[in-house]
Amino acid sequence: MPSIAKVAVNDATIHFDKLYSYLVPPELEPSVWPGGIVLVPFGQGNRPRMAVVIETEAGDDPDPRLKSLLAAAPEEARLTPDLMELVRFLRDRYFCTWYEAVKAVIPYGAQYQPGVENGRPVVKSRMVRPVETIYTLTGTLPEKPRPGPKQLRAVEALRPGPRSRAELEELGISRTTLDGLCKKGVLTAQTRDRPLDLFGEVPFDPRPLTLSPEQQTACRLLEEDLAAGEPRAALLYGVTGSGKTAVFLRLIEQTLAQGRRALILVPEIGLTPQMIRRLKAMFGSRLAVQHSALSNTERLLQWRMIQQGNADIVVGTRSAVFAPLQNLGLIILDEEQEHTYQSESSPRYSAHDVAKKRAAMENALLLFASATPRTETYQAAVSGRLRLVTLQHRYGGRPLPTVDFIDMRAELAAGNPREVSARMAQALEETMDRGEQSILLLNRRGYRTVGMCQSCGHVLKCPNCSVPLVYHKPQQALFCHHCGHRISPVPTVCPECGGKMVYSGFGTQKVEEELAALLPKARILRMDQDSTGRKNAHEQMLARFARQEYDILLGTQMVAKGLDFEKVTLVGVLGIDSMLFGQGFRSFENVFSLVTQVVGRGGRAELPGRALIQTTVPDHPVLQLAAAQDYPRFYEQEIAFRRFSLYPPYCSFCVVGFSGEREPEVFAAARRFGQLLAERFASHPEQPLRMLGPTPMTIVKLNGRYRYKLTLKCRNDAPFRALLRSTLDAYAEEKLPAKAGVTIDFNSDGD
Ligand code: ADP
Ligand code: ZN
Repeated sequence: MPSIAKVAVNDATIHFDKLYSYLVPPELEPSVWPGGIVLVPFGQGNRPRMAVVIETEAGDDPDPRLKSLLAAAPEEARLTPDLMELVRFLRDRYFCTWYEAVKAVIPYGAQYQPGVENGRPVVKSRMVRPVETIYTLTGTLPEKPRPGPKQLRAVEALRPGPRSRAELEELGISRTTLDGLCKKGVLTAQTRDRPLDLFGEVPFDPRPLTLSPEQQTACRLLEEDLAAGEPRAALLYGVTGSGKTAVFLRLIEQTLAQGRRALILVPEIGLTPQMIRRLKAMFGSRLAVQHSALSNTERLLQWRMIQQGNADIVVGTRSAVFAPLQNLGLIILDEEQEHTYQSESSPRYSAHDVAKKRAAMENALLLFASATPRTETYQAAVSGRLRLVTLQHRYGGRPLPTVDFIDMRAELAAGNPREVSARMAQALEETMDRGEQSILLLNRRGYRTVGMCQSCGHVLKCPNCSVPLVYHKPQQALFCHHCGHRISPVPTVCPECGGKMVYSGFGTQKVEEELAALLPKARILRMDQDSTGRKNAHEQMLARFARQEYDILLGTQMVAKGLDFEKVTLVGVLGIDSMLFGQGFRSFENVFSLVTQVVGRGGRAELPGRALIQTTVPDHPVLQLAAAQDYPRFYEQEIAFRRFSLYPPYCSFCVVGFSGEREPEVFAAARRFGQLLAERFASHPEQPLRMLGPTPMTIVKLNGRYRYKLTLKCRNDAPFRALLRSTLDAYAEEKLPAKAGVTIDFNSDGD
């Protein structure tokens, strides 16, 4: 009896993401299961396309027009029922296609693509497995003919146990020698997957943790949740330097002792090495890593290690939330307020929600941690939906840094044309003279951030995007920070009127130059996306700063968070004002968090820390509260604003985005979608909805496409999503997707 596979294909759009039925040919019967990756003939031309099997059924009397599957990927590529449950969850929550969800839960390297072998369509793995040859001593060296010194050395080297060819070559034993010995039956050669021990050099050095009384109390409460055997969630709110990591380590230890596994998420790649080192030192090598800076091969091998049950701890960035760890007991989201936990491409998921789903599936404890939690998270904690665990003091009774403002209005009035104020420069110099270090934050990269014509006011913008081009000095070029468009040489006259172009605004490159002029002795390390492009550059730079090869670490927000250097006693903040006047409803929260975090980098060890913030609005309440590092009071103000103006957590916030090549069409499509949606909600008055727009997005043109949005304040439940889905169907029926593609984003802050 033949069977039928219902599959979802790659490269579908959300409007046409149906399940298609295919016959399973008898020779593929043993390798087709739900969750399996297969190749199908698709469309009029029957071009091979990748697909995922959603279900299989008996085909007693199959439709004779059904096509047959072409090939199937090996079983190891199959999505387990757990992963399929996550795929369904993503699709239901975030309006993505089946296959987009599949690509999110299994890393790129694990995926297959259509290929051809001997004229037949096949599935091909996208990655080459790195293998190595291992030699084992399996016989004795014959006395005659007399063995040469090289042969003797090879046999000696292998006496303690098998070794890889690379290791033997390092000892000066050539492949010819080894091959010769294999022929004689003295050695046996085998190929195996090359193990990839990331951070293999970190010594296993477990030391008992001595927790402070506050940390102990926190652990005691959280251990209750961990032992509960049912899904639990908690927020560890601890001031900067309170030692949240020590609490993590203790909880991980407990989790492993219960025979369960732990998943630790950090907001960015830069923070993984620090976490990996601490975990490796304490727990040894059953640790796997998942993040986007790994090569495909590394990523896949780590993934397999997890899938095969050979990792007890996984550390990674957002996508690691899908790591196929079984028997999960603990999930930690460190610095949970970071926006990097929200995906900006389909599926537009939030690691918070996926982690919650996984914790529910596994009866695990989900722990959010931060010194500046998201307003929604803290609200959930104070209202009892999460357990709130607090660390109020820095570890070791160290004081929080003192914070002062430098009023830049006075600097401007005094005619200082620089970005670095005289007081900041002096403080940097004094810190350096004491043999201590400083961190300087400027959240803008490049040299000059805007080019404008002196005569007509024309601003040089990207031809593809509605944003100013940024001048980068090392390349002597203007760059678009969104699409990478490059213009060089740098225009000196206006393309519109021939007037003189003037470049202004400060980026990290310019400030680096100013610092070099102001403090000629200072050793300055600039860290931003441009200086950390090379693999491992980021980690190497931080290691050199830790070794005190530099006095000043200047950089974008990548220097603001999570770093722990004992000699840093001064933190400076430049150019923060523009962030205060940002668009989205989270802009205050973001500034508060960034300033608190960066200020918190100072004075973490013996030496007390201080911070200086340059601003033209020193009395701004958000800056004042961040300076006082008073999160609870900031929260009171912020939650009042959210309630009054109706923002999360008092509603769900959903941005429906539209983009296309012609602006009037995009606008019209967005308006039509709004009408279709309003019609549907009119017959469901019980379903709360406020709709705003269509309005242009903050960046109205990106990569040559115009962008508009509808902003919905709603209740994101199943009935709401059903209405939204039916609106999408109606939109597709009117053939509007041809004019403007739609995206649905529940994580946007409306920027
Ligand atoms: P944060 O809460 O900001 O993440 P960390 O976990 O980085 O703080 O801890 C701040 C500093 O205090 C680190 O240098 C850390 O090594 C030290 N520390 C915290 N708790 C302990 C502890 N129980 N034993 C020893 N050192 C600790
Ligand atoms: Zn551009």
